[in-house]
Amino acid sequence: MSLAAIDVHDLLGQPGTSRRLDVLGTMEGLSTELVEVPDDAPLGGSLLLESVVEGILVSGSITGTWTARCARCLTERSQPFSVEVSELFLVEAPDEDELDDEDDRFALLDESIDLDQLVRDAVGVEMPFAPLCRADCLGLCEVCGGNRNLGECPGHEALDPRFAVLADLLPELPDTD
Ligand SMILES: [Zn+2]
Ligand SMILES: [Zn+2]
Repeated sequence: MSLAAIDVHDLLGQPGTSRRLDVLGTMEGLSTELVEVPDDAPLGGSLLLESVVEGILVSGSITGTWTARCARCLTERSQPFSVEVSELFLVEAPDEDELDDEDDRFALLDESIDLDQLVRDAVGVEMPFAPLCRADCLGLCEVCGGNRNLGECPGHEALDPRFAVLADLLPELPDTD
């Protein structure tokens, strides 16, 4: 089953009714700078669709595996994730001016919920900005590029003395006033 549109016409106008929905699919282009759900990686959803007066409430969890690159040492690793979702899909789209930025609601389209957008938003906001392979990752050496976690950097003199001399020879920046 794909993560595309899910027909919910059976629930519309029947407040109080609900049905479970399990989906499995893939999604292209779900990534940030350092975190990516590969295009061919399976994404699963275990959802409850509940009919309410305003529309359809979709809640449950989305699970999958993403590849996170450590912000310090740049090594990649796969991590399973599970993201909780709870979104109300409104029968009638709210007026533009009734929406504020914090309140980013979904609307039903042709009696269907757009699962693609729901999953994209829910997983996207959970992706860490600066993932670390471990909390105390030592990162890469700025001099030789070696991965310090793996002992690849042999250690260096603090600063080549020739650079210190050069710095002394540089003219002072002229005053601007
Ligand atoms: Zn690291
Ligand atoms: Zn080094």
